[in-house]
Amino acid sequence: MAKLPGVTLSSCEKPMPVIGMGTCSFPPADLETTKTAIIEAIKAGYRHFDTAFAYGSEKPLGEAIAEALTLGLIMSRDELFITTKLWSSYAERDQIVPACKMSLQNLQLDYIDMYLIHLPVRLTGTVFSMPVEKDAIEPLDVKGVWEGMEECVKLGLTKGIGVSNFSCKKLEKVLAVATIPPAVNQVELNPTWQQKELREFCKAKGIEITAFSPLGANNTKWGDNRVMDSDVLAEIAKFRGKTVAQVALRWVYEQGVSLVAKSYNKERMKQNLQIFDWSLSEEELEKISQIPQRKGVTLASILGPHDLVLELDAEV
Ligand code: NAP
Repeated sequence: MAKLPGVTLSSCEKPMPVIGMGTCSFPPADLETTKTAIIEAIKAGYRHFDTAFAYGSEKPLGEAIAEALTLGLIMSRDELFITTKLWSSYAERDQIVPACKMSLQNLQLDYIDMYLIHLPVRLTGTVFSMPVEKDAIEPLDVKGVWEGMEECVKLGLTKGIGVSNFSCKKLEKVLAVATIPPAVNQVELNPTWQQKELREFCKAKGIEITAFSPLGANNTKWGDNRVMDSDVLAEIAKFRGKTVAQVALRWVYEQGVSLVAKSYNKERMKQNLQIFDWSLSEEELEKISQIPQRKGVTLASILGPHDLVLELDAEV
């Protein structure tokens, strides 16, 4: 398996492989299933893994990395790019370094490559069941939280820092207080939610967009099947002898962004890497640009339809 193309990030020396493997599964996979899938992914050539405290996949990822080292699948942890995320219950100035250390302990690692603020809100108390009560959601103290994230870099706990689910408006707030600007904004992006405005904004500010749910998170609680059931994508896939998933992932890649896709199926995870030796034509790109647009993964569907959450969902 050839090495995957890498992306240079603003404040992070190591290039980030342009495709990462997602580890948020539905229904939630047990630890052994997750660990086995990650080891298979390493064998298939994945070197970038996306996890989060909230997914419960940090521990099996840590175990899979340890086993991959023992098996000689990788020679050093440094060959991997590991992204994890600050859960919103810890999105407070003084709780960020301890939360990052907790993730490192779960992962059995000395450092994370990319630490992201998972959501642009703070949840009061330790909330794990969704949706949450209205009173449990507060606006983020952007200055305090970003200081905490920067402290994680200064302490060597993470190489890079960034955000997730941030709009242009929220990113402006981070940029206004940042000493270390966010390197990444991980957001939903796929042919049915193309995010043109956010992409242009991030490009201008040197922030790498990583697409999550690039296949529309089909067959999950938070996504739908609009990408996988798209007639436009199906027609292109048939003509090219590719799968709909490959056409969707290739389209995301051609937008100049990185992506994290989840498959725990050995064949599909391999298939999802086979997007680099062909390209879409101008005509095909034009057809995909005409696909009706709608956000699939809304914060309201996860946190509940509270005013603050609906406001965030409405921001681009
Ligand atoms: P996704 O990658 O768009 O889709 C995953 C679904 O597609 C799974 O049901 C998977 O099933 C299926 N699938 C994968 N490859 C396929 C293929 N080639 N053909 C047909 N079906 C295929 O959705 P996602 O999991 O929401 O997004 C990817 C990752 O992004 C997550 O795992 C997570 O790490 C991250 N994420 C982040 C956020 C955030 O707030 N930052 C939100 C959502 C997701 P199988 O496993 O059975 O193949």
